[in-house]
Formats: sequence, C-alpha cells, structure tokens
Amino acid sequence: GLLSLSAQAQDKNYPTHPLTLVVPFAAGGPTDVVARSLGASMSKTLGQPIVVENRTGAGGTLGPSFVSRAHPDGYTLLIHHNGMATAPALYKKLPYDPLKDFEYIGQVADVPMTLMGRKSLPPNDMPAFIAYARANGNKINLANAGPGAVSQLCGTLLQDALGTQFTEIPYAGTAPAMSALLGGQVDVLCDQTTQTLPQIKGGSVKLYGVTTLERIKALPDAPTLQESGLKGFEVMVWHGIYAPKGTPKATIDRINEALRIALKDPAFATKMNELGAEIVPPAKQTPEGLHTWLQSETTKWGGMMKKAGIEPQ
Ligand code: ASP
Repeated sequence: GLLSLSAQAQDKNYPTHPLTLVVPFAAGGPTDVVARSLGASMSKTLGQPIVVENRTGAGGTLGPSFVSRAHPDGYTLLIHHNGMATAPALYKKLPYDPLKDFEYIGQVADVPMTLMGRKSLPPNDMPAFIAYARANGNKINLANAGPGAVSQLCGTLLQDALGTQFTEIPYAGTAPAMSALLGGQVDVLCDQTTQTLPQIKGGSVKLYGVTTLERIKALPDAPTLQESGLKGFEVMVWHGIYAPKGTPKATIDRINEALRIALKDPAFATKMNELGAEIVPPAKQTPEGLHTWLQSETTKWGGMMKKAGIEPQ
C-alpha cells in the first residue's frame, strides 16, 4: 500500500544524509583503522559522509547490540570481526543473535595478528618467551579488548597451547591496550597488524611471532607461532559489514555496491596492504558470502572454546 510505496521512494534517494558506521572498539585501534578508511572510500560512492562511532565495551558486544536495535533504514551500520562468531560461546545472555538479527552486507579484509611484548620484557624471541611464560605464569600481564575480542581469543589459544595462565587486563579496544604496552604497564599483547606494524617496525615493542600458518609479506623475517613450536596455532582476523534486520533489500544492495567499489579503490586497497591486510575475494564481498562464513566461524570457534573448557559468563 501507501507505506511500502513511500519506503520505495525513500530507497531511491538513499542516502540523503550522513551514515553512521559503528565500531565496537576504541578509536585508533585496528578495527577503527579499517572502518575509517573503508568509510572514506564508500562515502565517495554513496555521496554522503560515513561517520565512525566507537561504541565500546563488553568485549565488543555493545556495538552489535546497539546496531541490532537501530532503525533498519540503512543509516546505521556495523563493522565487526571474528567477535561476531565467538561471542555466542562466551556470553550466556547475548542480547542479539549474530546469525539472525542482522542483514549481511559483505566481508572486507583479512588481517594477521602479531604477538608482542613490551620493549623491556626479558625474552627476545619466541622460544625464550615460551620458557619465560611457563616460569612466570600469572605474574605476566596480558592486555586485551575483553571476552569476544580477537586479542582475547589469541591470548586464550596461547595460554591453552602453553599450559599456563596469565593475568588478563581488559581495555575498551587494543588502542588503549597498545598504549599500556608502550608505557610498560602491561607485558604482552596479541593484536592485528592494522595497528601493530608501525610499532613493530619502529622497534618500540618486541615481536615474538605472527598468528598465521605461513609467514606474512609485511613481516617476512617474523617467524610464525607454529614454526616456534605451537603446532597448528592460527588466528586470522576477518571483518564484516552488517545492517539491522529488516533494512530494505534495495538499500542493502546500494551499500554492498559501495563496499565492492571501495575494495577495488586503490586508496583503500593500498592502505590495507601496507598494514598487512588482504582484501577478500569477490565471493566473500556479498551478503551470502558473509553469512555463510559467519556460520562456519561460529561453529569453528564455538567448538574450540568448548574444547578449551571455556565457560560462557
Ligand atoms: N584488536 C581488538 C580486538 O582485540 C579490537 C580493536 O581495538 O580494534 O578485538
């Protein structure tokens, strides 16, 4: 009737005012870096600014919670990483269902993680770090962005692999966690190259290894954690763009088009490659590509947490 006609008319003009892209972690961190450069590129296609809003807290679950309840008009979007897949296994009362309460727009880029120590931490390489970690256990402070964050996921896998327990210190994102590492208030941080490459290259932190199975182009001399004895250790961080459930299909199509154009935009792609990230192939840049991936990741990480004996809180 009239209502759907006016909704259609609105879609044709979409967007008529700025969009908000919610980042569930602190400004200046790795998710924020991807969001801001992606937003700048997508806004060229959409003809409206994309304003990044950092809605931090609860391991990155407050951002998706907010977006799941936002008006489904295409003006509030979410960017999130593996946390969409890990949260169901970590929280008993998650206020949203990652697999059902959103419209799925597409994936963006894959990013390796790096395990680092503060500059003054005694071990100089991964074998020395392993010995140091086993000897010092919970005297070691591990910074992360809370349960649901990839820094926490990486730390969980690490402690599980080493059979040791660190003291975990949660922050609103890994930007403040990195500040704490640089200031020597914490000892260890595992975080994406999208934030850590400049610090690693500048020598302001100690790098122990990368979390991919193969060495990465951005840090060819850095050993993988697997090479250093942690067999099968692998965390790759992926990113997806989401809209509230019920956002009109025509609007999703426009946003997806802007996303796919941005992923080919040299301004965005070059910046991502410089930060060690890799743009996902076209099949993943679609709503179906993101939803299918999210399903398989939810199964993968959920199973892994159960095996590691992690109880939802
Ligand atoms: N890298 C963070 C994480 O651990 C999130 C961030 O601050 O971007 O999930």
